[in-house]
Amino acid sequence: MNKDVKNAEENRTNKKEMSRRSFLLGSTALAATAGVLAATAIPGVAKAAELGYKVNYEKGKPGQWSMLKPEADYGGISVNYVNNNKEWLGSTQIVGEIPRLRQYDGGFNRALRNELGPKAKYGILSFDFRRYPLATGTATVQNNLVTLCEGKPAQDKLPIPDPEKMSMNIKDVAYFLNADEVGIGLTPEFAPWETMVTDKPGMIAGKPYEEVCKPNVVSAATHPYTICVSVDKHLETFLGSTGYDGIANSQSNRATMILSGIVTSIAAYIRALGYEAVASHQGKEYVIIPPVAIASGLGEQPRVPQGVAHPRLGFRHMIACVSTNLPLAPDKPIEFGAKDFCRVCKKCAQTCPAQAISYDDDEIVHNGYKRWDFNLDACIHFRAENEEGVCCAQCMKVCPWNSKEDSWFHKAGITIGASGRTSANLLVKIDDMFGYGTEVIPRFKWWLEWPELYKIKIPTNN
Ligand code: SF4
Ligand code: SF4
Repeated sequence: MNKDVKNAEENRTNKKEMSRRSFLLGSTALAATAGVLAATAIPGVAKAAELGYKVNYEKGKPGQWSMLKPEADYGGISVNYVNNNKEWLGSTQIVGEIPRLRQYDGGFNRALRNELGPKAKYGILSFDFRRYPLATGTATVQNNLVTLCEGKPAQDKLPIPDPEKMSMNIKDVAYFLNADEVGIGLTPEFAPWETMVTDKPGMIAGKPYEEVCKPNVVSAATHPYTICVSVDKHLETFLGSTGYDGIANSQSNRATMILSGIVTSIAAYIRALGYEAVASHQGKEYVIIPPVAIASGLGEQPRVPQGVAHPRLGFRHMIACVSTNLPLAPDKPIEFGAKDFCRVCKKCAQTCPAQAISYDDDEIVHNGYKRWDFNLDACIHFRAENEEGVCCAQCMKVCPWNSKEDSWFHKAGITIGASGRTSANLLVKIDDMFGYGTEVIPRFKWWLEWPELYKIKIPTNN
């Protein structure tokens, strides 16, 4: 080897060794932290420290959201950080004991068991098959990632000396994997389903509850933190859609296709660190999404209680999550005036073809907490049985929060939280004047329609 090349080679090796050594040695503080962790009685952590595993922790600036996105993006809206306790989950008031629910009793599952009639049952069964071929395509990934939701953690836990820094890293990982928003919350006790449906075909075939369900592996005690990830359902597609077309289901499936990859990857990453992690996405959900999303600071519960209104996205987004015992520093729920705004707005109620959404000014008590009344069965009937399209999502389309980030609404909305009813009234009137949310912009209609497939076929032996 030529002498210069050899020298350069040696220099490179030395540099590599130096940086690897300084990386491994880290700071004295790091070594001390590892020592403290090694001295604790947590078996996996002690073993990892003995093996010499170290994590390259550099503390972020206080309050820094992540390295890739130093501040959460609320679209310019001012946000208050509020409580997650026995009385409040963000702006949702808890007034009694909230029971843990059985997945078996969820609306779509009741429909699959034929409790809402054969048209709803076969409408839902054909959501992702035949009625809209692109929905079949976009559902493929989530359906195949169901088996990756759970897994065994690595035997030895890597030490996590700084949960705040770890939280920042988890957010960076989520953004790196294509998340639009991410937050971390303390898991509310009532959010994980009490029991899970594990045999859907058996349930559709009418097998008894005990045969098709089993206890949930996720609870607030075993998985105290929830990492929630949100993906926008695609503004332009909403601008081109009417609700009476084929695309609504594929909008959800597309977001879930991205989300299921993100949350199963984050769960596998956390398990490789040696901690428990279970991913929930539309294909398989271990937790009820709205409460964990609110706990993670992704929004407030709006008039449509299945949604979580984010200040920038409205509820035009899908959310998936990871339940974990990885030591993390949870975020707080946010409050930006959505409840006050919903009290006045009611655009979703006026638009809903099923009249499922309440027009009431005030919330009611439901299952131990306050929310606006909602006729879930009416919504499911319409979504499942709509033969002029597939599914719905019109409430999502008209919501003024579902707006472009630089829209007039968001600019005006900066003051919404602070100014109460009068300004909310005025904003809704202006929004109506512009026809925002109700307009259909033909140049954004890029997808194909297959109206001949939208008719629901009910087998004669049903
Ligand atoms: S999805 Fe459609 S039917 Fe259901 S609440 Fe929204 S607008 Fe109404
Ligand atoms: S449309 Fe209006 S009332 Fe309905 S969720 Fe959105 S802001 Fe609230």
